[in-house]
Amino acid sequence: HCPVGALSERDDTEQFFAALANPKKKVIVQIAPAVRASWGEEMGLSHEEAEVGKIVTALKMMGVDYVFDTDFAADLTIMEEGSELLRRLSEGEHQYPMFTSCCPAWVRFMKSQYPDMTECLSTAKSPQQMFGAVVKAYYAGKLGIAKEDVFSVSIMPCIAKKSENILPTMNDAGTGRDVDLVLTTREFVRMLRAEHIRPDLLESTPFDDPIGEATGAGVIFGVTGGVMEAALRSAYYLVNGENAAPDAFQNVRGQEGWREAEFELAGKTLRVAVASGLGNARKLVKALRKGKAHYDFVEIMACPGGCAGGGGQPIKDGLEQAECRGNHLYFLDDIANLRFSHENPAIQALYKDFLGEPLGEKAHHLLHTDHTAWKMPRESE
Ligand code: SF4
Repeated sequence: HCPVGALSERDDTEQFFAALANPKKKVIVQIAPAVRASWGEEMGLSHEEAEVGKIVTALKMMGVDYVFDTDFAADLTIMEEGSELLRRLSEGEHQYPMFTSCCPAWVRFMKSQYPDMTECLSTAKSPQQMFGAVVKAYYAGKLGIAKEDVFSVSIMPCIAKKSENILPTMNDAGTGRDVDLVLTTREFVRMLRAEHIRPDLLESTPFDDPIGEATGAGVIFGVTGGVMEAALRSAYYLVNGENAAPDAFQNVRGQEGWREAEFELAGKTLRVAVASGLGNARKLVKALRKGKAHYDFVEIMACPGGCAGGGGQPIKDGLEQAECRGNHLYFLDDIANLRFSHENPAIQALYKDFLGEPLGEKAHHLLHTDHTAWKMPRESE
């Protein structure tokens, strides 16, 4: 919180209710992985009680037309980012590693602090933005409606996502914005209260089809190390044609701000690192630039603990909840029917029916971005 009250939290819930009241709009909502581990905290629900299906029910009670799981797009991100990693490895040694790009605060940090390394960021969009592009460019057609008539909303653990969706590069479906509105977990909880919805009385409703199915690999995107672990599961499959054990890459788990591990992949030793918190990110990048650290693939999340500890999550003064929420996401992965992104039948169908191949022409247009194609505010002054 700003100590002098000069800053106040932006509330976009009015725009959401305005879209619901517009009969011309189909309102489609996606729910990020980390939201399911936190939304019940302010409502007095345990993790077991705060099922994600109850969020679906509540949104439908408010009048939302379709509700999907951002975890689906997390699986899609893995297909693209894992393929990008393998292509990069096949090119031989690089001075710097490939960095994940799904955290918009980290992308901004890299662009502003180390602009000469911007091109080391994966070009894969974040799951939020992949989902937005797929909803408008693909799902609107499935519904038989114009993509301009879709109002695409995301519920995120994150405040930085509110600046990601308005980037000029996040308009690949050609409607102005691929994601029209970003709401935080806190805003969602406020809407529940405003609508007098009692979560303890809700039943669970499944996500809508056909882009509502997700794997455990998508769920762990919400915790530090989760993107790395999910990517390694699928990269191993793409190289070897068979799966490793689902937990084979769990050495990247943990809450330490900067962790590293090595795995054998494609006949070589893959050196990976995971950092969360921008102070740790700076230390890691400085070590790379001084030649004191050498990695092939690095995951960075701006918030300590990853999105589970995101800036849009419920706040309990003096109590850090990221680890506890992250553990719940690992539990959900552990009990998931599918734990590998490449085994998600909805993802396989999307590539077969619409996208073609990972890194193919259509996937490149809709699911990747050019981080150098927009300027930081100070640069554009
Ligand atoms: Fe947003 Fe924080 Fe997650 Fe980055 S780590 S995407 S800033 S919630």
